[in-house]
Amino acid sequence: MDKFKYMEEYGYEQLCFFQDKNTGLKAIVCVHSTVLGPALGGTRVWNYTNEEEAAEDVLRLARGMTYKSALAGLALGGGKAVIIGDPAEIRKDPTRREAFWRAFGRYVHGLSGRYITAEDVGTSTQDMVYVNMETNHVVGLPGRSGDPSPYTALGVFKSMQACCRHVYGDISLEGKTVAVQGVGNVGYYLCQLLHEAGAKILVSDVVDERVKRCVEEFGTVAVDKAAIYSAEMDIYAPCALGATINDDTLPQLKCKIVCGGANNQLRVPLVHGKALQDRGIVYAPDYLANAGGVINVSYEHAEGGYNEEASRRDIDRIYNRMREILRISDETGELAFQTADRLAEGRIEAMRNVRSILTPGR
Ligand code: NAD
Repeated sequence: MDKFKYMEEYGYEQLCFFQDKNTGLKAIVCVHSTVLGPALGGTRVWNYTNEEEAAEDVLRLARGMTYKSALAGLALGGGKAVIIGDPAEIRKDPTRREAFWRAFGRYVHGLSGRYITAEDVGTSTQDMVYVNMETNHVVGLPGRSGDPSPYTALGVFKSMQACCRHVYGDISLEGKTVAVQGVGNVGYYLCQLLHEAGAKILVSDVVDERVKRCVEEFGTVAVDKAAIYSAEMDIYAPCALGATINDDTLPQLKCKIVCGGANNQLRVPLVHGKALQDRGIVYAPDYLANAGGVINVSYEHAEGGYNEEASRRDIDRIYNRMREILRISDETGELAFQTADRLAEGRIEAMRNVRSILTPGR
């Protein structure tokens, strides 16, 4: 990949490579955009095959965060960090683990708040506690906003209500059959909300224990992981991996709505978004549906500190945003994710002009 060409084409600001020989740290931080505010996004630890793969991943993820925060109405830009390595290996030796994360924290601090980090795949709250020993540019710490998953699930639930209103004329999920794929953090809390709302819930997971917990606590019905796509359902809620809407799964889906917490649900957005539309299936753009977590952590940086009540009110607003996007998409014939992208880009462009006004110290 020609990185400068790619960065220029998609408006990236910065890509930084950091290494620390003593701890074995190899990190890449990408700041896609700071037009709306500091670039916030988690740190992912992954056993990437090579640097190129890691760099491509961080570029893609950072840009996704810009769009997510922009559409959620936050004063935040988009960024991300990836670390090349095996999460279990890094955790094995406690002394090395602390040094590793504190070295990373020092590099994050060196970005002077242009980038704010958080937990992501392969990292834990404890890792972020070490990062916080070196920098305040980290969110999602214990005793503050905590685990974002229940808030992500709440946003998905509000999005589902908006989709139901759009399709059935009523927000109620009572009696609707919802298939939740993946009942880890987000999926579990989503099942809880759906159970309270009186939905019939089908669940699948590759970890049997997680399925069992939902069956016992919420009376959900377990479905084989390959059979979930063809199950009789009204709503399909992907809460595991990305790209589950693809050439193989699409013909099997009998639902009216796709709305879940997973990132990048459409394998090829233009192709599979169009295929859903052609089949009359409403698709809730993923980065709006799953914005509850980032909205919640953003409150750690709000004036006056973290405020759960205000955060929940903000997450409730996902309902109206989703309704608006589905309405515009119907009126214009645009795919819902294209409408979402256009609105996010519109906000960034409007704010780019505001930023040209000189205010000393900002
Ligand atoms: P998680 O790892 O806790 O849960 C994912 C679950 O999916 C696990 O239980 C895993 O066993 C299961 N799974 C994996 N492959 C599967 C398959 N083929 N079929 C069925 N189940 C499978 O992760 P999470 O934090 O709940 O996040 C879920 C998704 O939501 C991810 O795509 C993540 O990027 C996205 N997301 C999460 C948050 C958050 O706040 N946690 C915020 C935004 C987006």
